[in-house]
Amino acid sequence: MTAYALYLHIPFCRQRCSYCDFNTYTTLGELQDAYVVALAREIRQVGALAADEPAGTPAIRTIFFGGGTPSLLTTAQLEHILTAARETFAVAGDAEITLEANPGTVSLDYLAALRSLGVNRLSYGVQSALPGELALLGRAHDFAAAVEAARLARAAGFDNLNLDLIYGLPGQSVDDWRRTLDAVLPLGVEHVSLYCLTIEPGTPMQRWLHNGTIQPPDPDTAADQYEAAGAALAGAGFEHYEISNWARPGRACRHNVVYWRNEPYLGLGAGAHGLGGGYRYQVVRQPRAYVRRMAGSPVGPFPLSAAVAAYHPVGRVEAMSDTAITQLRLLQEGLDLGAFAGRFGQTFDEVYGDTVRQLENWDLLRRDDGHLLLTERGRFLSNQVFYRFV
Ligand code: SF4
Repeated sequence: MTAYALYLHIPFCRQRCSYCDFNTYTTLGELQDAYVVALAREIRQVGALAADEPAGTPAIRTIFFGGGTPSLLTTAQLEHILTAARETFAVAGDAEITLEANPGTVSLDYLAALRSLGVNRLSYGVQSALPGELALLGRAHDFAAAVEAARLARAAGFDNLNLDLIYGLPGQSVDDWRRTLDAVLPLGVEHVSLYCLTIEPGTPMQRWLHNGTIQPPDPDTAADQYEAAGAALAGAGFEHYEISNWARPGRACRHNVVYWRNEPYLGLGAGAHGLGGGYRYQVVRQPRAYVRRMAGSPVGPFPLSAAVAAYHPVGRVEAMSDTAITQLRLLQEGLDLGAFAGRFGQTFDEVYGDTVRQLENWDLLRRDDGHLLLTERGRFLSNQVFYRFV
């Protein structure tokens, strides 16, 4: 039985943040009920397709409610979705079940109900501790709400919390960033994800950049901020296990590690991506179209539901390249050279020897006990490294 990670996309938000180009909507609240029914139907449809496969019912080792703001769903809606998942797949008893939430959208009763539904990990979008930065980002909460959300999570029994933070903001100095880190570290969370701001086309932030309201972020400052965060988090006992992610020992995000090992995952819900049954696929983006399509029949073999808008079989060259790019993101584990040879019948050096030698000579990659890893220098130039395996 193949084990999968299960990603469920919840495309609703209360307000749109100024930098966000995610597949999420602020005016579709009335669609929430129909969306939940469609998502449960997609889960069951994918399970029915799997039942015809030799491998049978997929095992699920992690579930991740992402968005969007999944904490806008009621606990009854979340229960409806989780019940469909548990009745359809073999969900492991110790499955990591994460829900993304925004500070200010959760109460103690709500969080306690999530725990009783089996949700055991929360990921809060905190982004910054500074009021001016939160205003620039268009966030709906202040930092006091983030502190309160962390307190409520502990009171409800959550012992696995992640906070998302953003650096590389226009006008943000290294000291500003240190103030956010200094405010966040005393919260004692298990996991921190740090994202460098990218100004995406079509966002308010891109308009502000074009009309001169904000200045472009300075990449050298962002590199200094990344370095400062690494030092602060190491000093606080975190392991830097992925380029953008730090965790206390044993608290890496099991769901995301599946992506970074290039292992199969089912992505369901509007705009979700998946990798399974030999296919990469994408679900239709628009939630109304998603609900409409999910009234119909599946597109094809496992795991292609009625809402899949595009898919292709994953060829050998694509699979090798994806494996290189994703596994190198794992800074402690790196790319497992023995597993690569076992899977593809060729060693990594036979496929990419010239490239690897060049990157080793430039001190961007190193070998350690059968694994290939980014060097300290390679962490800062990771995109340059990955580009060479495409
Ligand atoms: S809360 Fe998250 S998903 Fe929603 S608009 Fe803001 S950044 Fe985007």
